Amino acid sequence: MKGVAQVVTHRAIRGYNPGMTEASPKIGIVSLGCPKALVDSERILSKLRAEGYELSGEYDGADLVVVNTCGFLDTAKAESLEAIGEAMQENGRVIVTGCLGVEEDRIRESHPGVLAVTGPHQYEAVVGAVHEALPPPHDPFQDLVPPEGIKLTPRHYAYLKISEGCNNRCSFCIIPHIRGDLRSRAANDVMYEAERLANAGVRELLVISQDTSAYGVDLKYAESDWRGRNVKARMTELAEALGDLGVWVRLHYVYPYPHVDELLPLMAERRILPYLDIPFQHGSPNVLKAMRRPANQEKVLERITRWRRDVPDLALRSTFIVGFPGETEADFEELLGWLEEAQLDRVGCFKYEPVEGAPANDIADPVPEDVKDERWHRFMEWQRRISEARMAAKVGRTIEVIIDEVDGEGAMGRSHWDAPEIDGSVFLNGDTDLSPGDIVEARVEHADDYDLWAIRTTSD
Ligand code: SF4
Repeated sequence: MKGVAQVVTHRAIRGYNPGMTEASPKIGIVSLGCPKALVDSERILSKLRAEGYELSGEYDGADLVVVNTCGFLDTAKAESLEAIGEAMQENGRVIVTGCLGVEEDRIRESHPGVLAVTGPHQYEAVVGAVHEALPPPHDPFQDLVPPEGIKLTPRHYAYLKISEGCNNRCSFCIIPHIRGDLRSRAANDVMYEAERLANAGVRELLVISQDTSAYGVDLKYAESDWRGRNVKARMTELAEALGDLGVWVRLHYVYPYPHVDELLPLMAERRILPYLDIPFQHGSPNVLKAMRRPANQEKVLERITRWRRDVPDLALRSTFIVGFPGETEADFEELLGWLEEAQLDRVGCFKYEPVEGAPANDIADPVPEDVKDERWHRFMEWQRRISEARMAAKVGRTIEVIIDEVDGEGAMGRSHWDAPEIDGSVFLNGDTDLSPGDIVEARVEHADDYDLWAIRTTSD
């Protein structure tokens, strides 16, 4: 997973309303938390829509609101409780699901009027609770659900969740407690979903899980049939098959186990994007040991050098935690030195925040808040300088850009270095005739610390 500080996105209530009628029951959904939670919301909506429910984008147009919560950090829990409160106030008929659902007592204490509380991945239970509170119509409009299901992302990219849960036990994290051990989807199940998405116009697939490199371990890497081809439930083989769909494939939450090296030839051949999101979390062996991070002994800096030699355009993104209990000034400086050597392309940094129930809370020597703050600012400035130099080196190059948005002034998109929402952007000023999902070539004219400005050299 992404790290200790999952981004909590307080998303607006969502709607998808083709073929609405006055008679059908209407559901609203508020989806909080990480992309993995967003995929859960999409599944819930797809199931309900297939049963004939309609979706409302307004609180007061909905007969009932489902709030999919995040329960990873205390701040995320507080935001989830606030979102439940807002839905109660604006609508009054609320079903709660998602990670915070494991703390039913806490939810009911704050909001005694909620209709039902279910936990993460309990799709049947959420749908059952909806049936009970708001019975489904007798004549479901199955044909109104697109074959790829209902997506909350823009049409041209989609998250593809390949497994649930996690076998690791990082000391700052309670995800395995909330979501259980690793449970991978069969390779053909993932491939059929990916194919449906590609056929529906998705041009970029973002592969997500808690630990993408561990995909298939629980299935003993079983093969399954996808269109007459046996695909192994293993990261390399899955990436290879996804690469044959003709869309951008971007891998997130990859831990640097030795077999990650097998991906590099696929990236060199551009069958998948040369992009690796590896949540390193720290550069000091002492801190990594205290964090109990997987694959922290794998000589990462040497491997990064080798990866870049084989795939010079490799984009490396990562997240880090500063102020972990017991982190000394020497550990922190080791982290800065590690960053200098690693020269990562995209980096997020979070101040350590204790999570209720996590073993890290018992580690001695918590770092005072003012020291955490000071280290976070130093870290951000350090990485800004690295990023500025790496972005400047791109000026003059011709790159591929996938378009995300177009308005009266031009287009905004991303290069292979940029995942949506978390990385940088490429601006094509004046290019108003493009559409989201177009992939064009452009020459980089200007760079700042994190973004690029380019001039198009081809059409889609
Ligand atoms: S325990 Fe699993 S989900 Fe939690 S941080 Fe570690 S790898 Fe990620």
